[in-house]
Amino acid sequence: MKIYKGSCLCGKVRFTINEPSGSDSQVHCHCRLCQRAHGAAFVTWVCQKSENFSLDNSEQSLRWYASTNEGRRGFCAHCGSTMFFRSSFWPDETHVTLANLHEQDDFKVQAHICYDTRASWVEVKDELPRRMTSELLHADDV
Ligand SMILES: [Zn+2]
Ligand SMILES: [Zn+2]
Repeated sequence: MKIYKGSCLCGKVRFTINEPSGSDSQVHCHCRLCQRAHGAAFVTWVCQKSENFSLDNSEQSLRWYASTNEGRRGFCAHCGSTMFFRSSFWPDETHVTLANLHEQDDFKVQAHICYDTRASWVEVKDELPRRMTSELLHADDV
């Protein structure tokens, strides 16, 4: 089992991922909510089972914002870093931003999702599959 540590910008929210479910669970999300929440063209998520995810003494600084009826986004109240996503559509999962892990090299991204709402000012030149919002089984996040 491998353990991956991560944190927000200031370090008050720290977390651990145990034994990542592997090679098929990372995506670049181009939905409008991710763009606004993170101030970025897209957000790269590691989609993990919550049983593999734990917070390390972070309860004081972690806050959850309900971005839709189904979805919640976790962020650090001290520095504002946005790091987590949970949805009632995937009740047993916690999605974590890959950029907030301290060690990222083992994680390969499998696809772009919500590609139809991508930012016009970024050119995507990789060969990954590009899935549209309508292809998302659970489009609560858009
Ligand atoms: Zn912080
Ligand atoms: Zn998104």
